[in-house]
Amino acid sequence: MKSLSLRVQHVDESATLVFTQMARQLQQAGIDVVSLTAGEPDFPTPLHVKMAAIRAIEENFTHYTANRGIPELLKAIVEKFEKDNCLAFDPSQIVVSCGAKHSIYNVLQAICNKGDEVVIAAPYWVSYPQMVKLVDAVPITVSAGEESNFKIAPSQLRKVIHAKTKALIFNSPANPTGTVYTQGEIEELADVIHETGIYVISDEIYEKVLYDGVKHFSIGCVKEIRDQVITVNGVSKAYAMTGWRIGYLGAVKEIAQAAAKVQSQVTSNANSIAQRAAAVALAAPSDDVTMMVHEFNRRRDFMMEQLSAVPGLTLQKPKGAFYLFPSVKAFVGKRWKGGMIRDDVDLCNFFVNEEHIALVPGSPFGAKNYIRISYAASMKELEKGIRRLKSGFKKLSEAY
Ligand code: PMP
Ligand code: GLU
Repeated sequence: MKSLSLRVQHVDESATLVFTQMARQLQQAGIDVVSLTAGEPDFPTPLHVKMAAIRAIEENFTHYTANRGIPELLKAIVEKFEKDNCLAFDPSQIVVSCGAKHSIYNVLQAICNKGDEVVIAAPYWVSYPQMVKLVDAVPITVSAGEESNFKIAPSQLRKVIHAKTKALIFNSPANPTGTVYTQGEIEELADVIHETGIYVISDEIYEKVLYDGVKHFSIGCVKEIRDQVITVNGVSKAYAMTGWRIGYLGAVKEIAQAAAKVQSQVTSNANSIAQRAAAVALAAPSDDVTMMVHEFNRRRDFMMEQLSAVPGLTLQKPKGAFYLFPSVKAFVGKRWKGGMIRDDVDLCNFFVNEEHIALVPGSPFGAKNYIRISYAASMKELEKGIRRLKSGFKKLSEAY
């Protein structure tokens, strides 16, 4: 058999999906596994959104649509960008895709040449560096550690930008750390972006999931760099619509057209029924979003309170998204049943085998010896999960 492409051989499968699937398989085999893996709201999609999809099917709205999206969805996105983000786009500058993940990939295809560099702050969402590699570009990671609240400083960004740098992927609120940049911090980064002329892919998928009165600020609002920013968002997180697969971007026409060209040859339009549903989700009042965020807040506080009491675990209170990202360094080197916990991956294996709780290790997020705990799960699952986490950490602290 001929070999696979070098490109695919050098790319990792999405760790979030791998660990989520592993938990699903154990559950299907009858094992009572608590899965705090995927960042996926456990709420049902709001009823009015589901009704819009049912209507679309009944009206036989089941054919190909315009590649970039149906007019009513493009209109709803333009209005959303204007209302929430102070971003002014014409419908011709919007491209609807099969999830924000797909939007980011289309953009990378549209702007990157072989060997171009794309800057990513670490810890990062697992897919960023892998998508960059898939387009034959090079991910350049900049450390945004715990000591800097998981944020990069303008000086760090300036240092890594040179002739080959094409873009920065910017994510606030961030997965996996829950960090949120302030307007002032974003404006300082924008100065560097203006000076250097690089693009910014701003992934704002967690825009609505914010706590403690923190406000979201879109980097594309900074006038001087407006044309350099590609703003990506979607309905997965805010409207509990992960399975519908609708994401979108707004950008200068040239980039929007280039991303649409990529899409026209690879997938064509996003699902017609889901587009109708997404248009309704975006245009409707935000009561469901408010309710979900209120509930995430309650779960975050519960998880923080419980886990702060675990000796050895260090964690920061997230300001957005729905993940905790504690350091587990204190448990590395512990011996258990003749083996040793060498790193975060071993620790996650220990938890799934010993305590039947599935988590995602930090390594694929660019943060060795951290773990990601999603609290986008029901309170009942979280309570059960906490008991198992505490039990596992206790066993390890008593081990040597
Ligand atoms: N960006 C980030 C930071 C994410 O965590 C996710 C995961 N859903 C996505 C983008 C992609 O979202 P979707 O493709 O479901 O719109
Ligand atoms: N983004 C979510 C996560 O980080 C869903 C899985 C994925 O697409 O990576 O868990």
